[in-house]
Amino acid sequence: MTRPVRARVALDALRSNLELARRTAPHSRILAVVKANAYGHGLVPVAQALEAADAFGVAGVEEALFLRQAGIKKPIVLLEGFFHGAELDEVIRHRLSLVLHAAHQLEALAAAAPAAPLRVWVKLDTGMHRLGFAPGELPSVLQRLQALEGVELAGLMTHFACADDRADPATRRQLERFDALAGGLEGEHSLANSAALLGWPQTHAGWVRPGLMLYGISPFVDSLAVDHGLRPAMTLETELIAIRDCAAGDAVGYGGAWVCPEAMPVGVAAIGYGDGYPRHAPAGTPVLVDGRPAQLVGRVSMDMITLDLRGLPEARVGSRVSLWGEGLPVEHIARAAGTIPYELVCAVTARVPLVYE
Ligand SMILES: *Cc1c(COP(=O)(O)O)cnc(C)c1O
Repeated sequence: MTRPVRARVALDALRSNLELARRTAPHSRILAVVKANAYGHGLVPVAQALEAADAFGVAGVEEALFLRQAGIKKPIVLLEGFFHGAELDEVIRHRLSLVLHAAHQLEALAAAAPAAPLRVWVKLDTGMHRLGFAPGELPSVLQRLQALEGVELAGLMTHFACADDRADPATRRQLERFDALAGGLEGEHSLANSAALLGWPQTHAGWVRPGLMLYGISPFVDSLAVDHGLRPAMTLETELIAIRDCAAGDAVGYGGAWVCPEAMPVGVAAIGYGDGYPRHAPAGTPVLVDGRPAQLVGRVSMDMITLDLRGLPEARVGSRVSLWGEGLPVEHIARAAGTIPYELVCAVTARVPLVYE
């Protein structure tokens, strides 16, 4: 390893978060969502660590095939189904389950006439207006599916738009709409993402679909992972590669955007937006230097950031710098940078080695 930047991933934290999901929704099966390279944590190692899940959810056939090639035999659900009918061969060969959300997919399914049984979840739009059939379309969709040989209905699902805000009445409205449509129909039901799993027990049903919480991150705007008993899985770290003695009035970094108010040490750490650290993180964003709090100053560069080391006389070249994870909630960094933790962990780039512990 040359550049000292790395993302350490604690596999026991992943397992412990899955167990917490299990305890919180004890009567539901768990579809562990591992799309987007397991939210940046590494698809295959994460799925292997989460082997106690009942199924895995991904966003596309490529991700599903990585799992199958790694020997994962559990059900895998394509959360957006297929994009082009040509994918159906692979879907059938690798026994992937589909989410069916639109009429064009039904037509492609009918044309493919799958020989092997194909399990299909039907997605209902109960108010998010992203993917899913409108409530009025459900009877005809089910009828058309039943007429297709080789196609099995796994169940009905929907997705919440506002479950991350526990005071928002939209979730209750979506739940009521779902119950009105799905009640009395055969098959499983699945509604809950992490926020609904943790905050809306009445949504658990047969299958829950946690993603973010498995990685030890709170899905709510107003809480931290630790408030829910979750353990952060990823710690993003690097080292100090220089310490500069700056004078009062010295401008630091691109654009000279930050000016030293007094003579002070400025640390340079080897991480930047080329690694996925958010370029919009402002001065004052917290970091840890050898476990002690320090702050970002100046603009984030591609490969480096600069740090205010006042109050840290023991900091040295080689001191460990943590950007988020253990001791520094990624939720805080997301808030400082004007984004959500989902985006931060997903954005860690391919040049950052994932180190499993
Ligand atoms: C990504 C996704 C999830 C997981 O959401 P989290 O908020 O990460 O728990 C669940 N269901 C569907 C359909 C998704 O696309």
